[in-house]
Amino acid sequence: MPETFITIAIDGGAASGKSTTSLALAEKLKLMHVDTGSHYRALTLILLTNHIPLDETNVKIALKKTVLETTLDGNRALIAVDGKTLPAQALRSEAVNQHVSHVAAMPTVRQYLYAYQRGQCDIARSLDFAGIVMEGRDIGSVILPDADLRIFLEADESTRVARRAAEGHADAIATRDKIDSTRKTAPLTCPEGALRINTGHHSLEEVLNQILTAVKNF
Ligand code: C5P
Repeated sequence: MPETFITIAIDGGAASGKSTTSLALAEKLKLMHVDTGSHYRALTLILLTNHIPLDETNVKIALKKTVLETTLDGNRALIAVDGKTLPAQALRSEAVNQHVSHVAAMPTVRQYLYAYQRGQCDIARSLDFAGIVMEGRDIGSVILPDADLRIFLEADESTRVARRAAEGHADAIATRDKIDSTRKTAPLTCPEGALRINTGHHSLEEVLNQILTAVKNF
């Protein structure tokens, strides 16, 4: 394993196992964990709460007045919007699930979050973390294309639907994945050279071992 700051990008569709895997990995390797899905969720929640029409023009105006910061909960970086972190339950509400992919498909929104998300590496460095693990849809392809390790997680739809049901969340996984994979800007895709793992075929421990082996071989 390198002595220097390490960057790990984990991408995959809804309920593909990204959060479980990246949180466990961050814990094990003492990395700062960043969930970029929560960034899109936070903006969607704020836009919905403020009754902003979800079109590029109105969203752009609203985002100009919005300030993003980062707070830490253990090794998890949390987004704060206008000085407030948002409750996990609200970020995962049915309304947010319904609108987040539409909001995330807007180039204005992606451009707005790009610098914030890339800036998470500097925050992790300044806080003396050994590195960062960032999860999302376009991390290995757009946000951290030069990451030391790029991972793409997948699982078949029935496994993913069962995971969401077990969490007690209403989530149209297939609809979100379709919008996320077919949008023009930064679509969900397996980045070139990524380690591809089917989380439905392996236990969490097996998935982690595959990733840890790849980290040792940097
Ligand atoms: O990961 P999670 O399911 O919480 O992400 C919510 C939504 O945020 C995704 O369905 C996608 O529309 C958007 N997203 C994205 N790019 C990322 C992370 C999430 O477009 N890097």
